[in-house]
Order: sequence, then C-alpha cells, then structure tokens
Amino acid sequence: MFGWTGRLLRVDLGSGTIRVEETPRGLLRRFLGGRGLNSYLLFSEVKAGADPLGEENKLFFGTSPLTGTGLMSSGRIHVTAKSPLTGILGDSNAGGHFGPELKWAGYDGLILEGSAGAPVYLWVDDDRVELRDASRIWGKTVSETFEGIWSELGDPRVRIAAIGPAGENLVRYASLMTDYGNACGKTGMGTVLGAKRVKAIAVRGTRGFCAADPQGFKALARDLLDRLLKTPAYRVFSRFGTLSYLSLYNRQGRSLARNAQQTGEIPYIDRYEPSRLMEHVTRNVACFGCPIHCKHEFRIRRGPFAGEKGHGTEFCILSAHGPACGNEDETAVLKINNICNEYGICGDTSGIVLAAAFEWYQRGIVTLRDTDGLALEWGNTEAQIELLMRIIRREGFGDLLAEGSARAARAIGKGAERYVSHAKGGDVDQVDIRTLKGCALADAVSSRGADPQRGWPSAEFYPMKAEEARRLFGNEKAADPNGYEGKAALVNYYASLCTLCDVLGLCKFSSAWFNNPIGVPEMAALVTALTGMETTEEALWETAARVHNLERAYLVREGIRRADDRVHGRMMEEAVSTGPHKGARIDPQKFEQMLDEYYDLMGWDRSTGIPKRSTLERMDLREVAEELSSLGILAEDEETSRAF
Ligand code: SF4
Repeated sequence: MFGWTGRLLRVDLGSGTIRVEETPRGLLRRFLGGRGLNSYLLFSEVKAGADPLGEENKLFFGTSPLTGTGLMSSGRIHVTAKSPLTGILGDSNAGGHFGPELKWAGYDGLILEGSAGAPVYLWVDDDRVELRDASRIWGKTVSETFEGIWSELGDPRVRIAAIGPAGENLVRYASLMTDYGNACGKTGMGTVLGAKRVKAIAVRGTRGFCAADPQGFKALARDLLDRLLKTPAYRVFSRFGTLSYLSLYNRQGRSLARNAQQTGEIPYIDRYEPSRLMEHVTRNVACFGCPIHCKHEFRIRRGPFAGEKGHGTEFCILSAHGPACGNEDETAVLKINNICNEYGICGDTSGIVLAAAFEWYQRGIVTLRDTDGLALEWGNTEAQIELLMRIIRREGFGDLLAEGSARAARAIGKGAERYVSHAKGGDVDQVDIRTLKGCALADAVSSRGADPQRGWPSAEFYPMKAEEARRLFGNEKAADPNGYEGKAALVNYYASLCTLCDVLGLCKFSSAWFNNPIGVPEMAALVTALTGMETTEEALWETAARVHNLERAYLVREGIRRADDRVHGRMMEEAVSTGPHKGARIDPQKFEQMLDEYYDLMGWDRSTGIPKRSTLERMDLREVAEELSSLGILAEDEETSRAF
C-alpha cells in the first residue's frame, strides 16, 4: 500500500486491550483519511444519543495520505469525537509534529474507546504500544506533562498530545495540546480525553511509509514550494502569521469589541498592530516541514508580566481575550494565551465565554453575588484572569461558565441568551459576519457549529473580479460580501476546499482557501503520485461532498434540522451600530432564501434539511441511507443531487 500505512490502532481503555486492525481499503477510497475517515468511524461506531462524556463516546485520531510527507505544511492531525460542548460532531485539526510521528509509527488512525479506571497515558513506540500509569502527571500543566513523560521515557524526541487541568476537570471546551502551542480547540476534544482519564498520548515513529511515485511526488512538492515562495502573501504571512488579522479586519471595518457591542473600527486596536505584537516575538516557529513558519515564540517585553515566555498566539485568542473582553493591553492577552496553553483550555472559546459574562454583568443580568465578588468590568485584567482560572478549576461562577456560553446563558435566563452569538453551540468568531453574508451562511450550516475553518469564503474578504466569481461560483455577484446572491455555491466551494485539506492532511494556510498554490488540481496530482490511485479533480470534489453528506447524516441522526441551521444572538438580531458598515444586518427572509439554495445544491430536503436518499446513494453512502431509513428519518426522494 502506498501513501497510507494500512493499519488502525484500537485501544480499549477499560480492558486495556490493544490491537492493530487493517484499515479497510474501501473506506480509504471513499474518505481518503483524516476528517473523512474519522467522521465515518464516528457515524458507524458511536450510537445516536451517546453521552459525549460517557464510555460509549470514542476519540478518533486520523492521519492522512499527505501527513508526514515531504510536502510543505503536511504536519496535521485530525481529532474527532462527539462534542461535549455542542452535543453534535466535534472535531479539531492541529499542526505541530504529532501527526507525522503517529503516521511514521505505522498508523492511519488511533481509536480510543471506553475509559480507564485510573489516569493513564498511551505510549506508542512503533509496534510496541502500552498504557502506562499517569498518576504522577495527573493534575499537571501541559508543559509539566511533556517534561514528565520525556523524563520517564528518557527520550525528548517523543512527540506528545496532552491535556491540562481543564480537560481533567471536564471543562466542555478543553483543548488537546500537540507539542508546545498547537491546540486542538473549539469542540472539547481535550474534555473527551479527560473523561476517559487519558492524560496524554506519546508517540515515537520510525517505520515510515512509501510513495507510489517518489520522484514524481518530490517534483510536485518542489514546484509547489517554488510557487508558494513567490506569492506576495508569503512575505507577510511567514512573518506575522495571523497576528496581522486584527488590524486587517479593523481596516475593513469588521472588528468587534466588548462582546460585539462596539463595531466597525476599534479605537485602541493599535495596541494589537502586528508591528507592536512583534516586539514581543523572539522567533518564528513552524509545524513539521512548513516553510511558512507562521507561529511564534515570545517573551513579554513590558507590563506586569514582563519576562514571561510563551508559544503561539493567534488572531482568535487575541481578538477573543483582547477587544471582545474590552482588554486594551496586549501583554495581558499574551499572559492569558500562556494560561490557555498550559491549562489546556480553548483560548478562542474561553475568551468569547468571558466576553458574554462581562456583558451580562454590564446589563445587571449577573451581579457580584453571582460572580462570587468578581467585578466583571470591561478591561479588568485581574478579574478576567481570575475568572478564567475558576472556569479551569470549575469553581463557583466559573463552574457554570465551564459549560460554555450557550448552556450558561440558558441556565441564567433573564435574557442572557441574546448576548451569545453561536451556531449549534459553537461560538461565532470575532469578525462581524453581518457584513459577510456568505460567512454567516457558512457558520449556520457548518457541521461542527460556527467556525471559520470550516470554510468561510475568503473571496468575501478580498476583492474578486466578476468573471472569476462567475467561473468559480456560477454567479458574478457571489463574492460580494453584502449581497445574498450565489452564496450557496460560494460557501460550498470554500467548505469543500477546507474539507479536502482536512481529509488529506494539509494546512489550510498553504491551500487555495488562502490564495496559495495548493488547489484541487494540485491535490489530485499529489494523491495520484503518492498513492498510485488515479485521482481526478472531480473525484476530490465528490469526496468533499461525500464527507459533507456523511457529517450531515450524523447531525440529522442527533436531531439537527433546518431550525438549527442559523446563527443565534446579536449577529442575527441586531444591525451593526457604528463604523463604515453601520446599519448592515442579516435579513431573515434573505437568509432563509440562501438556506433554500444551499439545501437544493446539497440535495437536502428544503423543509427539514435532511439529506435525500437519492443524494446519499449517489454519494456512495448507501449504508448511511439505510441507517437513517431504519430510524425513520430519511428524506425519501428520488431527485438527484446537484452538489457537484
Ligand atoms: S502555515 Fe503555520 S499553522 Fe500551517 S503548517 Fe505552517 S506553521 Fe503550521
């Protein structure tokens, strides 16, 4: 077998049974790997209604055909389980070196099932796999865990994915950290590991795998690298990474602050200018084999936290713990970044949860009595850090916020829900999607709740010529951020690109999603050279559509319907109050029309959002159709899908 290893590692944590299974070739042909294979295993092995924190939930780690090859940006790992935050499909994709190491150890995937009686960590040394006692590292931070495992195994080359105290305490948005500063965040994959009492997975891999046409693959990889280095964006992104986004969105008038009460251009955003942030950066760092090296190590230069060192800070955590919480001090956010990485809590979600809490306090929905004496005033760094720590420890008001913004708002009542913008329990990121109608649709239909990485249409952020929009999306107005026309095809195009990155094991920043050279034709050529399986561009688009339908079937089986495909809260209910987009809003009627168009394109029933039998059968998902049919929830219809 070329490109894949042909093996899955399955660990039953309850009995301690460890076995290696053959990866079914039919599944690799249909889903390729990573997110596709994980989502299929989730659908087929975790029954409907399973408790995300119960033994019946499973955690799937997927490598991919391109993972760990010499191709740039191929150091990804995809992790999937039923999400404790949203109760639907949960997954996350991270960089670093863990994914390649697991693949070199000889595995297309790792499945953790059941739960351990006492804390353990999994040690994978090629074919030698064992569960080891983790009582000495339980309760430790992420870096202490890494140090403890390296010292016990006597090998600092071992790659580790670990949880921190937030995962152990079952905070519903705990991260799984791979290497320093790379987080599987958002949907609580660290929480699932904590519920299984697994502190970490340590891997050393030396087996490797083969390419069908190594010379051809190398030539393609070299050509793509040459093309990447010549792009104008490379110079900027390889220096700043996503640190430049806050000021970019601010220039576009799409920034948000104080839980989206302040819109347009945020006056103190100069505190987050990339040149100012770079004053703290000591060096750029890269995931496995990546010439973009968009990540950073830093040392805080000034303020009360001066001298503290850290890894990796990104737009999402800067915006969520910075302007969203009314915090004007970038050094405080760098400190908070370190807390999130060390205690293993999603920096993005935790910031948005705190921002909602600050607004509840501002409006008197919660008072000092509810917050255990913490004055949640905008920009109060001390209160922000203290409440974050109480979330991690699940203490008092922090225990409620550890449930996530949507659940906490429901529990509080008194209109608190109005101040939480989410889709299916996933918090909306800190960019004003009222000015980006395709992004709003993408958030509404995303299979893991609101999430830019599921395929926000980048064409809405950068001007695109009308002819190009017509060629790609069949409508010259599709890329107009304020329009509603042609959005279904636009959203499906970018969602498919992102899905292909997730199934193939590529960083999205090196792909056409980001205007970089790896587009679908290049992906097809790479897969063909690597696996020897003749792969066309059309076949890859079809794979993306298959994954979208499979994930939709999973959501539908969990009870998701058309009424759930929307963004809740301020982003849907209020107009932009200030700035260049003042008055912009999402028109509810036009939103429904976009949704109709999207369902038609995907081959889903308009009234329910359930995939039609004809769609699933055409996607080679017959067993999925049978499962939905046996539960009486399949849209029986003979229409043919037009999704690709
Ligand atoms: S572009 Fe950045 S996140 Fe992506 S693989 Fe490279 S270093 Fe990692």
